[in-house]
Amino acid sequence: MTSVKNFIRTIPDFPHKGIMFRDVTTLFADPRGFRMAVDQLLQPYAGAQIDVVVGLEARGFILGGAVAHQLSAGFVPIRKKGKLPAATLSEDYTLEYGQATVEVHDDAINAGQTVLIVDDLLATGGTAEAGIKLVERLGGDIVGCAFVVDLPDLGGRARLDALGMNIHALCT
Ligand code: IMP
Repeated sequence: MTSVKNFIRTIPDFPHKGIMFRDVTTLFADPRGFRMAVDQLLQPYAGAQIDVVVGLEARGFILGGAVAHQLSAGFVPIRKKGKLPAATLSEDYTLEYGQATVEVHDDAINAGQTVLIVDDLLATGGTAEAGIKLVERLGGDIVGCAFVVDLPDLGGRARLDALGMNIHALCT
């Protein structure tokens, strides 16, 4: 049976030597692959009330927009620092080398709204955790976090489990 995994290619030594980069652009470019990824990402949440899909920059925008459309939900971007034009909340997080900051508009989610967080890949979980914190600071009620790829050896799943998150991943 064809799975989303068949559409993802691995690029060695990108962006640094020793990193095996999972490239989902080949999944997005394939009509069957992209539909499969979007359908499978939203499948556990199809009967649930989701008010807002939150996408993490940048590939989470591509997936999250399609998922939001299918669920008849709104879409909210979490962006890297300095990209959003209105007032924002921000969260710093640690990368393998150094620090990064993500932001959300401070009026993007209303307290009590139900939220599904979407990104392409879960590695250390730092990006997703920063996104979770932003949504929670706005009072959003996170129903789940959906990823195409989970790299469990890098600890992200355990990290989000410890936060009590419902995690849905299409492949490891
Ligand atoms: P984390 O914060 O360590 O979990 O890294 C996840 C974030 O980095 C996500 O936003 C991914 O898009 C990106 N990322 C890390 N590794 C890869 C990869 O191998 N392929 C695609 N994206 C990756």
